[in-house]
Amino acid sequence: MKRAVALTALLSLAILATPPASAATGSRTTAGPASPATGSASPSGRHTDPGRQVLPANDGWAAEGSGTTGGSAAPASNVHTVSTRTQLATALAAPSPKIIYVKGTIGTDKTCADYTTGGYTLQAYLAAYDPAVWGRTTEPSGPLEDARAASAAKQTANIKLKVGSNTTIVGLGKNARIRGVNLHVDKADNVIVRNIGFEDTADCFPQWDPTDGAEGNWNSLYDNISVTGSTHVWVDHNTFTDGDNPDSSQPLYFGRPYQVHDGQLDITNGANYVTASWNRFAGHDKTMLIGSTNTPGADVGKLKVTVHHNHFDDVLQRLPRVRFGQVHVYNNYYEVPDASTFVYALGVGVQSQIFAENNFFRLGRAVDPAKLLYNWAGTTLTARGNVLRVGGRVTPIDLIAVYNAVNDPDFGTDAGWTPTLHTGVDPAESVRLSVSRHAGVGEIS
Ligand code: CA
Ligand code: CA
Repeated sequence: MKRAVALTALLSLAILATPPASAATGSRTTAGPASPATGSASPSGRHTDPGRQVLPANDGWAAEGSGTTGGSAAPASNVHTVSTRTQLATALAAPSPKIIYVKGTIGTDKTCADYTTGGYTLQAYLAAYDPAVWGRTTEPSGPLEDARAASAAKQTANIKLKVGSNTTIVGLGKNARIRGVNLHVDKADNVIVRNIGFEDTADCFPQWDPTDGAEGNWNSLYDNISVTGSTHVWVDHNTFTDGDNPDSSQPLYFGRPYQVHDGQLDITNGANYVTASWNRFAGHDKTMLIGSTNTPGADVGKLKVTVHHNHFDDVLQRLPRVRFGQVHVYNNYYEVPDASTFVYALGVGVQSQIFAENNFFRLGRAVDPAKLLYNWAGTTLTARGNVLRVGGRVTPIDLIAVYNAVNDPDFGTDAGWTPTLHTGVDPAESVRLSVSRHAGVGEIS
């Protein structure tokens, strides 16, 4: 069932504790989010305090079952306002349900030099594992690789912060930022992350792997947000960038880009029931990975994710890349200006069931629309209602037909399921304006 909803109505839904009955377009009859009893509702029923807001009923896969309320029911004693990494770490370890307000910019209190141990230097690492010396058939090992790993472990201990169940993390005002930190939502249920600018979670110690791909690759550990083994997670109205340290400015070593970042929002290891809405992902390479291994295991029947009204702004691949999951990708705005750096948008992986609907793709004139899909050993997806703008012209695009015309094997055209958990799918033509204006940090308060 599709239903056009005006943007203003959609935004109102996002701040209603109890959406109107008309929003119940899904087939499920389970209870909606928490009652406003514990919140600070105004007489109109709108929560003006973003810490008390919950995921609207039916708003994507995170609305399944018990829905996603985060820490909205926190007693006053479990409400924290943080503006340093240490305060954030302390609040994350405190009792739940809890609300953590982020005020201003949180950064790390250490530099790469603080983590370096065991005699690691990049210069020595490059000398030891130069393919001319080490070859290309085995991964690095020995004292310098051990020193790199030990240094990386020290960095991980400082910048990877675990997020537990029944937690809301929300930025205050328009300028909340978390820089150089990896939020790790691990084996948790019921988590909300909203209204934060996430920046540059750079790895000080990238690892060279000569066996990754035909020419080898530099790999890094940290995402801005990692969701693993968790359920009911709502990531909304955040901005993800590499700040002043973009991938495009990294050097080449051994002829390959020195990659210091991993994902912006990666959802893996059997995570399930996630809604990523109204975020801006900008100026980054590997953006959103859903499912990290082709090996069937914990991911089978999980990785159910809804990706809607996000702005994919000059990001290069994994928008998202999907394995296993039923993933509803609708009403997103893709801006792809540069054919020389763009890799692909939707990665169709093993047993994936992508349902791509009413998205707006704005491409530079040299960008090939057949590259919007990429075959990572998937077989089929549903794509409908998507539009393409090149120059000033907006036309419908059949993503699968365009892909199949120049690639073999062809993709099938049926993902095998039809999404019901959504609050209404907007006309694709409206998405460029609504998403470019209202996605990202600074829009909800
Ligand atoms: Ca990752
Ligand atoms: Ca073909």
